[in-house]
Parts: sequence; C-alpha cells; structure tokens
Amino acid sequence: MHAYDLLVVGSANADLVIGLDRRPGPGETVLGSDLMIHPGGKGANQAAAAARLGARTTLLARVGDDAYGRMLAEAQRDAGAALAGLLVGSTDTPGTVGKSGTDGAAEGKDAPTGVALITVDAAGDNSIVVSPGANARLTPDDVAAARELFEAAAVVSLQLEIPLETVAAAARAAAEHGARLVLNPSPPARLPEDVLALCDPLVLNEHEARLLLDDGQSLTADPEEWATALLALGPRSVVVTLGAEGALVAGPGVGSETTDGIGMVRVPSPRVRAVDTTGAGDAFTGALGWRLGRGDRLEDAVGYAVRVGALAVTRPGAQESYPGAEEIGAADA
Ligand code: ATP
Repeated sequence: MHAYDLLVVGSANADLVIGLDRRPGPGETVLGSDLMIHPGGKGANQAAAAARLGARTTLLARVGDDAYGRMLAEAQRDAGAALAGLLVGSTDTPGTVGKSGTDGAAEGKDAPTGVALITVDAAGDNSIVVSPGANARLTPDDVAAARELFEAAAVVSLQLEIPLETVAAAARAAAEHGARLVLNPSPPARLPEDVLALCDPLVLNEHEARLLLDDGQSLTADPEEWATALLALGPRSVVVTLGAEGALVAGPGVGSETTDGIGMVRVPSPRVRAVDTTGAGDAFTGALGWRLGRGDRLEDAVGYAVRVGALAVTRPGAQESYPGAEEIGAADA
C-alpha cells in the first residue's frame, strides 16, 4: 500500500492576471482591471486537482520564501494535498515547509516564487510572460533528497516547467521505485529517449503533439495518426487530449480492436458550456494520475479525467475551478 496515490513533481507559480480592452504594443501603456492573483503552475494545478478529488497527493516543487510561496502552500493545503514535498526558499530538504535558511544561497536557490504575468483582452486572447524564479532552482539533488516520496508514490506525474535535467532525474527515480510515470510535455521540449520510454502515458494536446513530432506540422487532422507517430517515439502509452472532443487513448491492450496488441479508443467529453478553459489540461492530468494510482485501467482513468476536465471549464480560474469527487458522480466514489 502506497502512502501517496500521486506524487507531482513540477512548477508552482503565482498567476498575476489583468483584464484589458486591448493588449499594449511596444512602448505603449494601457489601463486594465484590478490585479487578480491566483495559485497556478502546471505542477501545483495537477496536485490541487487530484487532492480535491480525494487523492493522497503531494507536490515536489520549489517556491520562494515570500507571500506568493505562502499563497501556493495554502492553496495546496486547502485542496487537501500534503506539503511534504514543498521546498521553500533556500531550504534544501523536503518536508520543511515554512522554514528557510541562508545556506542555499551559495547554490543559487534563493529565488522568488515563479510568476506568470497574464493579460487577457476583451476578445479573450492572452499574452503571458513567465518568470520561473524558484522553479528553475528545483534540481536533480532535490529529487535525490526526496527519495522517500518516490518510494511512497504509486504514480509520479511530470510536466516541463522545471529544468529538463530535474524532469529526467524524477522520471528515473520513479522507475527505480516502481512508480508509474505520467508525463505531460508542456511546454514542449525534446526528452531523452529513456525518459520517453518510461511514460505510461505521455499526455499531450494537439499543439504539443505536433511540436514533439519531427513531421508534426505536416500531419493530417487525424489524432489517430498523431497517436501512432507518438507511440513510435517510444512511450508505453499515449493520451491525446482533444478539448471539447475529449481524448484519444492509445497503447497495448487498449480497447477491443488491436493491431499488434496496440489499440486506440476515443473517449468523449461530456457536453458543457465552457466559461474558462484555463488549467483544464492540468485538471485532466491530475485526475488521470490519481485514477491510475488507484489501479484503474488506462481507458477507465481517461473516462474519469474527461469528466473532471469538462467540469473545470464550466467555472472561471484554474485551481478554483476544480471539482470535488462528489461532483463527478457517486458511481466513481
Ligand atoms: P489547457 O491548456 O487549456 O489547460 P489542454 O489544451 O492541455 O488545456 P484540452 O484538450 O483543451 O487540454 O482539455 C483537457 C480536457 O478538458 C479535455 O480532454 C476535456 O475532457 C476537457 N475539456 C476541455 N475543453 C472542454 C470543452 N470545451 N468542453 C468539454 N470538455 C472540455
């Protein structure tokens, strides 16, 4: 029995959002709405989504010893996630949230919490500038020091908003401790072959799929074609999220019709009125990781995750929009 259904290793950011009529051009100043500050970052979002659903979850991430770091810790606590993995300021070992020291300064670990500056115009289009801050200081050494968390986790979930060498170290630590690896290559980047080979599944949207594939821009609009090409990169399974259309699952033993043991299934999303899709992919992936940690088959876990993603888009915000288990349906409890 694992102590954690899910260990998320990734980013935690404060999202600073201003609404405006028109985004400014170079050298221009415009007036916008009051500043809104939300907990964000793909890692923190995934962990919050899973914890809100009842998963025993912890987030291995680094935040600054500042107000945004405390906001992010509080958001994790409110969602029900354990803070065992949250590293603060120059603190070097997991499980010491709220404390800080000065010894890490020499290692460049003193850094402010990561921030995303987001402007959203009247048409709903946004511009985003990310300052990774403490996220860039999450190192392979931090992964090594968090060995106990990896030992305790059924599933490890990764994204790419932290240094790639740290992602690779976390993927290898997951394999070493027998945890299943879920990886969302966002923002897209090339991954070492051995890391790709551990993904079960690789979870990505169309944009990420096209960027990951050498001939991605020339691919047709057929997600089955992308899934086939993605599987050829080596992951054990692939889940392509398709927004309102749900998701495509591909891998060994998926569905009933298989070619060479590889099957594909489309999992539709419930029809909903979308209000704000921010963080929907993270809600989907957090939910997926949790259900896999509980032992669901991949396509069943995706069936649950599309419902979580669909509910998340019916409300504004990212973490604030994530549903509790009672909203997903008694049959899934
Ligand atoms: P984002 O970057 O906006 O967080 P994403 O591009 O990574 O999201 P999507 O494929 O847009 O991921 O969405 C993830 C999941 O959320 C989908 O598989 C689906 O279940 C749900 N979802 C997203 N948009 C809608 C929608 N308009 N209607 C219903 N479900 C949706």
